[in-house]
Amino acid sequence: MIPGLMRITRLEVRDIRFPTSKGLDGSDAMNPDPDYSSAYVILHTDTEWKGYGSTFTIGRGNDVVCAAVMAHEHLVVGLTLEEFRAAPGAVWRRLTGDSQLRWIGPDKGVIHLALAAIVNALWDLYARHAGKPVWKLVSEFTPEQFVASVDFRYLTDALTPQEALELLRRAEPGKAERIARLEREGYPAYTTSAGWLGYPDDKIRRLCREAVAEGWNHIKVKVGRDLQDDIRRLGIIREEIGWDRKLMVDANQVWDVPQAIEWMQSLAPFKPWWIEEPTSPDDVLGHAAIARAMEPLGIGVATGEHGMNRILFKQLLQARAISFCQIDSCRLGGVNENLAVLLLAAKFGVPVCPHAGGVGLCEFVQHMSMIDFTSVSGSWDGRVCEFVDHLHEHFTDPCRIRAGRYLAPEKAGYSTEMHAETLARYEFPGGTEWR
Ligand SMILES: [Mg+2]
Repeated sequence: MIPGLMRITRLEVRDIRFPTSKGLDGSDAMNPDPDYSSAYVILHTDTEWKGYGSTFTIGRGNDVVCAAVMAHEHLVVGLTLEEFRAAPGAVWRRLTGDSQLRWIGPDKGVIHLALAAIVNALWDLYARHAGKPVWKLVSEFTPEQFVASVDFRYLTDALTPQEALELLRRAEPGKAERIARLEREGYPAYTTSAGWLGYPDDKIRRLCREAVAEGWNHIKVKVGRDLQDDIRRLGIIREEIGWDRKLMVDANQVWDVPQAIEWMQSLAPFKPWWIEEPTSPDDVLGHAAIARAMEPLGIGVATGEHGMNRILFKQLLQARAISFCQIDSCRLGGVNENLAVLLLAAKFGVPVCPHAGGVGLCEFVQHMSMIDFTSVSGSWDGRVCEFVDHLHEHFTDPCRIRAGRYLAPEKAGYSTEMHAETLARYEFPGGTEWR
């Protein structure tokens, strides 16, 4: 072994599930009873350093994702940190390029969720070893290092590496000031904690009052199960939050295209800023049709939490099907592919407003919004990162919110590590919570 090379010696995965369905937290029109879960990856090395990563599911099937993580073992064990640091984009292509595994993707579904957990753990290891949080590590990249982190395969009809370099170079002036500003002020966020479909009216009213008191200016609620019910709930919410705050609605894919247009025409008097996931996440032209119908109503279309890969985002942007680009740290193939989509969104001038919630997504995706601000779009105007107040206590570096903003993470890594007690208690099926 070459001294000084940190080598990955073991890939470990744990099936961690939280019984959130008991409280109807996270309930929406498509997902009435999620048990927020993590396929949790630990990369062991031949040193004391470890990398932690995770992907998110909502319960059943988390074991399938864990099995898919282990299917990557031959690609991960033996990899050195030095190789990854030298060319993160090339390593990403290798991890997604195994010809046999590729057959059960490519770049989508269970195999891609599993990949995300591994890739997130690699970035965690990289950043821990560098002594920086991931957002700052990448913010301090040169444009060349940033471009070397992205696999441009299938993107060059929309964005070439050369164009990406130019875009990143344009954002270089003022970057140091933006990093300092993030560290002072944090990044703008919005809350989804008030409006889960399973909550009774009095609870929604109370949560809206609390959200306003806590300083939230953007609030999102779930819709799409029953139109009259939505009209009543949006009325209550506007009474509580007023008309100056932004209100977003989320249908979680339940509608067909004509139904989405009709339903949203009925909700337009409540002035939603965006309609999120109006229909199937794969339906690029359907989203475009909804977007055209929403334009005169002043309602934007948002999607991406089930956006399987950079190619789908490319098409959504090319078709002008979205006004808000909702990346996800675990649905896309980890940090590298999120960086690719940040670049695409900047090229098309569409603001990135990441999806979060579940378990860990807030912790991870805040880093991506911050990188977008410092290095890519150079702006946070019209951009907000989702926040949901669930399960943060299980992380050793939980996200911190103050007056409707994410405070910039300070600890080294990707905020992905969970407490040892959490693993022991919530591991499925053997943990004390499940036995
Ligand atoms: Mg959503």
